[in-house]
Amino acid sequence: MSRVGEFDIIRDYFAGAPTSQSVVLGIGDDCALLQPPPGSILATSVDTLVAGRHFPEGADAAKVASRALRVNLSDLAAMGAKPLWFTLALTLPAADRKWLERFSRGLLETAREYGISLVGGDTTAGPLSITVQVTGHAQKPLRRDGAGAGDGVYVSGPLGAAAAALPVVLGERKVDSELRQAAEAAFYWPEPQLQLAQSIVPLATAAIDISDGLLADLGHICRASGVSAELDIEALPVAALARELTPEQARELAATGGDDYQLCFTVPKGDVPELERMNTGAVRIGTLIPASGEPQVLARRHGQSWTPKHPGYQHF
Ligand code: ADP
Ligand code: MG
Repeated sequence: MSRVGEFDIIRDYFAGAPTSQSVVLGIGDDCALLQPPPGSILATSVDTLVAGRHFPEGADAAKVASRALRVNLSDLAAMGAKPLWFTLALTLPAADRKWLERFSRGLLETAREYGISLVGGDTTAGPLSITVQVTGHAQKPLRRDGAGAGDGVYVSGPLGAAAAALPVVLGERKVDSELRQAAEAAFYWPEPQLQLAQSIVPLATAAIDISDGLLADLGHICRASGVSAELDIEALPVAALARELTPEQARELAATGGDDYQLCFTVPKGDVPELERMNTGAVRIGTLIPASGEPQVLARRHGQSWTPKHPGYQHF
């Protein structure tokens, strides 16, 4: 392992990141200088990935970098925002050139793919931890508190893939190499739903990205909007990886598994036909109803009330 200093790291791995017109001054000064698109509302969000907690200690640095940026981009998608800039706070146990090489490659490849510019950061020594802050711009932000009774509830795509992948990624479940690859892809390359988000912006009343599990995250929309949701568990699109398990386990993971980064969103009854005509691939899973008492998510299966055995992921 070759040892290098903080400024070498910044120069060799991050300072050369491509930027865009909106970046007046990028990496290298005390602050970045940024010019937002005229008339836009900025949307900003930060997420930290801690080694051993959010990814395995020895995980490939390129994959970890990809995941760190993608989960943040997903927050922009959930807000109906388009990516502009991000910063990176990196805490490293050692300046390992091999690791940094792979990390910056994975990071900058992902940044290029989604048209977001790295404009600054901080580099410190300590237990491995990666903090990414993203900023985007929105014309009409998709908040959690805009949904109303009667709205249709949709998800952007299959659920349960990342939760099914987790034991494989952690090495707790041995599978063949094809399945292992699919699991790694689900976990490290979640697809931020930026395009779908832009297409639903004119119609959607609320949106959230599914990071903690559908039931938990839809619950956030319900509480913020003061409505309840009726959910048809049989309508949930189940990811192929989850379908490898028993039907009950698959259902459970689709309803409660985190880390898929699909969007859950709501559309007023009157706009449902237009959404369906748009062929976004989104799937209707339920309907919002007036809350009697505390807003809640009422899951049903074949007409019977349904509750998961394990509720959504809790950090603490
Ligand atoms: P300061 O001491 O003013 O905080 P630093 O020495 O930490 O500045 O960083 C110097 C420059 O390099 C700044 O522009 C900062 O944003 C950038 N930078 C530091 N670490 C990173 C990183 N991991 N990724 C991208 N840019 C970084
Ligand atoms: Mg600094």
